[in-house]
Amino acid sequence: LSAAARRVLEEIDEQNVDFLRLQFTDILGTVKNVSIPATQAEKAFTEGIYFDGSSIEGYVRIQESDMRLTPDPSTFAVLPWRDHDDGTASARLICDVMNTSTGEPFVGDPRGVLKGAIDRAAEMGYDINAAPEPEFFLFEQAEDGSATTVTNDAGGYFDLAPKDLASDVRRDIIYGLEEMGFDIEASHHEVAEGQHEINFTYDDALTTADNVATFRAVVRAIAAEHDLHATFMPKPIARVNGSGMHTHLSLFSGGENAFHDPDDEFDLSGTAKQFLAGILEHAPAITAICNPTVNSYKRLVPGYEAPVYIAWSDRNRSSLIRKPAARTPAASRVELRSPDPSCNPYLALAVMIHAGLEGIERDLAVPDPVRENIYEFNAERRAEHGIETLPTTLSQSLDALEADSVVTDALGEHVTEKFLEAKRSEVMDYRVSVSEWEKERYLETF
Ligand code: GLU
Ligand code: MG
Ligand code: MG
Repeated sequence: LSAAARRVLEEIDEQNVDFLRLQFTDILGTVKNVSIPATQAEKAFTEGIYFDGSSIEGYVRIQESDMRLTPDPSTFAVLPWRDHDDGTASARLICDVMNTSTGEPFVGDPRGVLKGAIDRAAEMGYDINAAPEPEFFLFEQAEDGSATTVTNDAGGYFDLAPKDLASDVRRDIIYGLEEMGFDIEASHHEVAEGQHEINFTYDDALTTADNVATFRAVVRAIAAEHDLHATFMPKPIARVNGSGMHTHLSLFSGGENAFHDPDDEFDLSGTAKQFLAGILEHAPAITAICNPTVNSYKRLVPGYEAPVYIAWSDRNRSSLIRKPAARTPAASRVELRSPDPSCNPYLALAVMIHAGLEGIERDLAVPDPVRENIYEFNAERRAEHGIETLPTTLSQSLDALEADSVVTDALGEHVTEKFLEAKRSEVMDYRVSVSEWEKERYLETF
């Protein structure tokens, strides 16, 4: 047993943990749990826990369904919202998924896909730091407990109490996150009514992806304790700002920020610019992973602070990538503004990292930044600046994904195939449905 695993066993004892939730995610980013009595913890660390993968979205075919979960002891955390009356507690451990027939990591495990991206960076001499900014809405629940889109406040960006009635809930969410080991930097009311953002400290890419999965679970659970529904749906209300998950990235080499260059006009090193160019080049394919729902594309429209055009800027927020102003050595980074919080954080970080590293390997040149508001450009001005548009539908971005071997290699054959299959079927399901908007617009007109 490793020292870290032994420490977990002690914690289980000290904190009176009686049940352990072993967590992993499916290809679509949904967290799955296998619950075991805490008495099985040692066995989980030494032998792993076997489960039937055939019932998990996008996992395996029936005939090869035996999977094994190997808990990562560094992810142990007692769940704040499951304090039992009898003084016992539940805890979670995030797991890697292994293929029992080969003993190798399972190719369909998103956490394994991200580890592949991290390994590639390590081979090139880099550690990756990532910080996401997930936004979400808090809505009232209906009598029967189902979610509505009624907000319980009327706050605007950075408004203070008493308008921001949700600040109590947000405070409880922050306490919950802190109990789970999060280091919260800031929280504020976002632009839209009922919309919030809570920022946590950057970390290495794997920890950050684990954190996003945990964040979504904690926010939902604690909101529910207040009879509110928290949603990470990208665009729950038409014609109102949607929820993004801007992602800040930097590469470190030997403890130094490889993106920092005080002599550069933008405080970006050559490496940072190549990385940025790689992301720009693969932006359409990346969009399929970072914006994986039909609804994601209702957010990526002009006028709501979400990116629409493939460009970067050191100033305005209408571009896909922004260089934040901070110029201190540790803070130099780029911010990708397209991801939304419905994405699978493991796959999203994996494709961003691979695309960026590809830019470094191929020594890609970065275009000039665009400093004006691109929403106001017409097609001609965009063409002058060589600015392409992000895919405008899930279907388009799936085509872009399929055609981009850098991104499909990043995901691996299994994940690519299962992802495309699930998402094409989602697109078809949407196509055969008829929306309220269509009925309002056409039913009486024709
Ligand atoms: N809610 C905006 C989005 O959809 C982002 C607002 C902000 O700059 O934080 O990306
Ligand atoms: Mg925000
Ligand atoms: Mg941001």
